[in-house]
Amino acid sequence: MFRRLLDSPWPYFVGAGLLLLAAIASQFEIRTPSRPEGTPADIEMLAERDDLNVVFVLIDALRADRVGAYGYERDTTPAMDALVSQGILFKNVQAQSSWTKASMASIWTGRLPANTAILRYDDALPEEAKLPAELFQEAGYHTAGIWRNGWVAPNFGFGQGFDQYIKPKGGRERLRAQSKHPSGRAIPGTDEDILLSAFEFLDAFGKDRFFLYMHFMDLHQYVYDDSAPEWGNSYSDSYDKSLAWTDRLIGVIVNHIEEIGEFDNTVIVIMSDHGEAFGEHGIEGHARNLHTEVTTVPVLIVLPFRLQQPIVVEDEVSNIDIWPTLLDMLGLPELPNTDGKSLMPLVMASAGIGGGDESLVRIRYSHLDRRWGSPDVTDPWVAVQDGDKRILWRANDPENSRFYDLRNDPGEQQNLYSEDDPEAERLAGMAKAYLEVTESPWGVETLKIELDALRLNQLRALGYVIKP
Ligand SMILES: [Zn+2]
Repeated sequence: MFRRLLDSPWPYFVGAGLLLLAAIASQFEIRTPSRPEGTPADIEMLAERDDLNVVFVLIDALRADRVGAYGYERDTTPAMDALVSQGILFKNVQAQSSWTKASMASIWTGRLPANTAILRYDDALPEEAKLPAELFQEAGYHTAGIWRNGWVAPNFGFGQGFDQYIKPKGGRERLRAQSKHPSGRAIPGTDEDILLSAFEFLDAFGKDRFFLYMHFMDLHQYVYDDSAPEWGNSYSDSYDKSLAWTDRLIGVIVNHIEEIGEFDNTVIVIMSDHGEAFGEHGIEGHARNLHTEVTTVPVLIVLPFRLQQPIVVEDEVSNIDIWPTLLDMLGLPELPNTDGKSLMPLVMASAGIGGGDESLVRIRYSHLDRRWGSPDVTDPWVAVQDGDKRILWRANDPENSRFYDLRNDPGEQQNLYSEDDPEAERLAGMAKAYLEVTESPWGVETLKIELDALRLNQLRALGYVIKP
């Protein structure tokens, strides 16, 4: 026992760990903390407030249609559903890639992947890149990022602006589903370790203004505990059980924020970098194609007050719009040269205030270099969606591109691609034009990181094939 305490990353924090376990257990009863009532007009006043904190929760590999608030029949997300029932929900959001590093670079910078130049296993954001954490830091917030996915490690440039950028040491193991990943058991610990680090940060800085980013990985790893519902044992079922587990952790962190008296002045954002496939197109997992099951993601914003009814933004938007929206909402400076735009006019219009802004509902792009893990070989795929029409453009193999009419075929089962189809050709032209954009978006040569064997193996432990 003593030996184990010494091995613990938080030897002085074991008591809190036990409290955390109790808190997770008590989450069987979902309790939504109470807050003052607010109106949509109060959202526009958030930029004037000088007492707000921001908690940014990234649930890796969360597809929108598994979330209760997005219509899923299983009760996978009671805590998140309760939170967003008084906040803002974006119903139709497309991620900019199906691979964590490319997608996270787009989320943080508000730029499309071609404009981040984060496309390959060894690409890194240079110091010239501006990230939201830097804006928070410059505005006087305490900033912390807590992560367990090696693709957002500081060597890839993702730690910029964080006072503390922490990869918690694995604490305890939970029952896992049999993983579909060949080495999927290799990431030590669970997202409980993220919560423990977050508690520690909040106890130290929760009374000051803070920006806290937590990057949850248990869903990516299909981790769940022994109280999971009896939903079956397929990968898809295990994923749902893991989502229910992750949702309980969200409930725990929200209740902790309430316990330290900060719930009435904290904005909580929950979103994801990409979805997850369950064989819809012959593949399980992600980072292999750009079909809708891996690019349709949820975005929830929990306000520091409760609305009488949620604001549901139905418009088609992109993950690159979310940080421009949040910075606008919070009255913070803009990120430079974003492709994304603030969606505040759409939020307000969805709440019945103002007429919106049609220019914000735009062509949407996703981008994946399918050979991102192989040196000297590229295979760019670009998804371009305009309303119901969507192309998966394969730059190296155009005749095997795919084209779908989502109105009649939302699951993308019937490939209509033909070079003779004017709509397909129009979207193909957009994909080609997109790939022709700038080569050095940050004004410097793309930063390439030399990955040692240890790091490569850590990334392979996520289930990816990397062959340098
Ligand atoms: Zn991911």
